[in-house]
Amino acid sequence: MDTKSSSSRFLDIQVTARVQSSSSYSSEVIIFQSHHVEILLQDKPNGSSLIETLGSCPDPRHKDSTLSLAFDNLTPSYIFQRLFNKLKDYDLSKHIKECTIGEFQRRDLPQGQPLLITVVVKSTRKVYLEREEMCSICFEDFESKPMRLFPGCFHQFHRECLFEWIERRGHDSCPLCRHPFE
Ligand SMILES: [Zn+2]
Ligand SMILES: [Zn+2]
Repeated sequence: MDTKSSSSRFLDIQVTARVQSSSSYSSEVIIFQSHHVEILLQDKPNGSSLIETLGSCPDPRHKDSTLSLAFDNLTPSYIFQRLFNKLKDYDLSKHIKECTIGEFQRRDLPQGQPLLITVVVKSTRKVYLEREEMCSICFEDFESKPMRLFPGCFHQFHRECLFEWIERRGHDSCPLCRHPFE
């Protein structure tokens, strides 16, 4: 990716807890993680003039994952350490810990019993792109014809120029950065 882009991450975490139905003595946390990328196009860098979102799609850099962890106790520091050792992600571990603790404190949940805790994490990488002046295949602007992003590197071209580049001329990578076409 070139220097005219920046990105940030947004986490959406849903936690539900219930008493373990089996005769298990320890609590269990199951974490489902999915990754998305949302592309936002702007005229100037640093988010000063946000123009449009180009929608979101599954993030090609990360696979969805499911993780199951047994917990001997549910103290905040233990929860955090256990999560962090496994996820190696400070922010994510901290957020899950906070959401999980909030869920334990639900009034209707019996205290002191092993719990089954389900955590659904939707992580969205927002990528901010600066709008390009012109298509680097035909050197014309984007006023007249629809634009399309190259998958993965998000360079901007006319939809028809990119189609021609890949389908008719048989290239298999981005004309600007050689990012492979998948
Ligand atoms: Zn073009
Ligand atoms: Zn590219």
